[in-house]
This record gives sequence, C-alpha cells and structure tokens, in this order.
Amino acid sequence: MALRISAKLKKALSEELKKDKSEIEDYVWNHKEQKCFLCSEKLNRASDDIELDHDVPEGEGGSNAFENLNLAHVECNRYKRNHSSFDVRPHLKFKRFYESKLGEVHFGDAMAFFEITPTECYLQIDDTQSYANIQTTLGEERLRIHKEVVNGKEQFFCFATLPVSCILNDADIQPREIKINHLFAISADLKKNPLHEQPAIRIAGNSDKKLMLMFDGQHKTVAHMLNGNHSCTFKIYLNIEKPEAVHLVNSIQARIKMLPLTPFELASKMSDEVRRKLEAYEHQIGSTEVSEEGFISWLDPADRTRAKSGIEAAVVDRIIGDSDLAFMKIVERKGIPTSSDFSVKEPAFKKMF
Ligand SMILES: [Zn+2]
Repeated sequence: MALRISAKLKKALSEELKKDKSEIEDYVWNHKEQKCFLCSEKLNRASDDIELDHDVPEGEGGSNAFENLNLAHVECNRYKRNHSSFDVRPHLKFKRFYESKLGEVHFGDAMAFFEITPTECYLQIDDTQSYANIQTTLGEERLRIHKEVVNGKEQFFCFATLPVSCILNDADIQPREIKINHLFAISADLKKNPLHEQPAIRIAGNSDKKLMLMFDGQHKTVAHMLNGNHSCTFKIYLNIEKPEAVHLVNSIQARIKMLPLTPFELASKMSDEVRRKLEAYEHQIGSTEVSEEGFISWLDPADRTRAKSGIEAAVVDRIIGDSDLAFMKIVERKGIPTSSDFSVKEPAFKKMF
C-alpha cells in the first residue's frame, strides 16, 4: 500500500520539476488533488494502492508532463486500461457507491446516485382508442396504441421515450436490488448492441396524471443512466393488472433463455425467476414449512427441470456476487475484464459447480 510512480515518470518529472528523484513522490502527493481521478474517492496514502497515471494516454499523444498526470487507485486504473474504448468513470463511481451501500442498492437509490429528481407524467387515451397522448418533461407526444394477448387477455400498449425521472420501480413485481455484475454487463452490451427489449411499465392513477411503474428491466434502465442517458424507450402497458404483469415478466425471463447470454447473465436472470416462484411457494405454504424438495414438487411438472437449474443458477449468482469472496475480481466476463492479474474465464468458473 503506497503511492507508486514508475521509473520512467519519475525521471521525466525530476527533469521537469528540477527535483531529486527521491523527492518526487512527496511532491506529487502534496501538489495533486488527493482523490482518485477515476472513481473520485478520497485517497489514503497509508492504506490505498495508488499510482500516477496519464490523463490523456500516451498512446493518444498524452505527455509525461506533470499537468497530464493524475493520482488514481491501482485497481481503478487497471479497470480503465481494460476499457480504454469508453469512459469508465461513471462505472467506478457507481462501484464505490455500491460498496458503500454494501450491495443493497435499489432502483430509487440509483436514481438518487445520478441526482435524478422525480417528475410528473400525464397520459390520456384518445377517443378513438388508437392513440395515447403523453406529456413529460421531454414534451408532448402522440403514440400509436398496439395490442397483444397475454395469458388469454387483451393488453394495449405503446412505446414511448420517457425521462427516467418519471419512472418508479414496481417493487411488488420487481423487489430485488440492483446487481452490479449484471448492470455492468448490460451497460457494456448496450454500447455495442442498442437493440435490447424495452423495459416494461404499467400505469396507475385515476386522473390524467399517472404513475409509471416499471415492472421489468430495472437493470437496463440503470445501465442507460450509467451510459449517460437520462431517458430511454419503454413499453407502456395501458390496462395490465398485476397478475398479468407477473405472468409477462416470467415469460420474458423464459424467452431470455433463448438469447445469446453469457453463463453469468443467464444465471442472474434465472435466479430472479426462481426466486419469484419461491416467494409464491413460501407465501402459500408458510415459511416454516418450506423445503427444496417441497418447492420442486409444488411446481408445475413442466417447470421442474427448469427450476432445478434455476436453483443452481441462484447459487452461482449468489457466490459470484458475494463481495466478501471477491470472485468478481478474478472472473473474466464478456465485456468486463478483470481488475486482477490472475483471471479465469466465465464458462470455466461456472463448470466448477
Ligand atoms: Zn479509484
């Protein structure tokens, strides 16, 4: 734990500053801002691994001059080097925030982190029932209404770009906290592949002023915020009730199995699905009577095999997400290189279970 300055930078600085090499470390510490220029956290010279690094990288013409150098955590700097194609600062700041909350970050906490204050949303259905008029801080929009059948019932919906500020998480249907590994994977993927399924919303409220309850896609919405977008396109269900919304989420999860997800993303999705079913089972049986065997036989026979792999997925998900075990640091996931010198690939890691 110390401040490290490479021999090359030390030499360049001692020439520029006309100082002895032995004085460079103290000089840099006393004349640079003592906070990590990547995650913004205050640095502690006694307990943190710190290094001096370029603001504009050498590869992009950045010089070794004092003014082009900043202090950063070694860990943050390695993360940046592995993600040179985009700005990692929001990720690293979010990671610090996540750690400070001990991993208990819900959608509302993420909104507060991004300093997004709630705004209102007005929605009316046209007399013709073919259009919805929506008014948000982004302006007014007339949206075509479409329909589909969910679980035997006709559902009307439209697509709209909304400011994230008017979204509330539907905690009844989506009660889980944000998982950082899943969030970062989606954030990286959104940069290359913007054609993701839209987060889904149901509406509440009797007047034109509506509450926009997001019942699916909270990770995607936070990933958009992380990527600097404070608005995104949502699928708004106009007449859906809670049971149909739950059914829809589960069928979305089932469809996800067919998408080309990495093993960890799949584990995360499947564990969400199995958790939801477990909650329903527990609710019906009573929490003192529950067992894994009981759960499996309580399920529809057609769902049993899937649930077994879901339970396994939940275990893997729990283990990799456990910050005490720190597996995230060594497992190399698609789009998210490790911050460690030693690493193991995701499929190889999952095979261990
Ligand atoms: Zn840092």
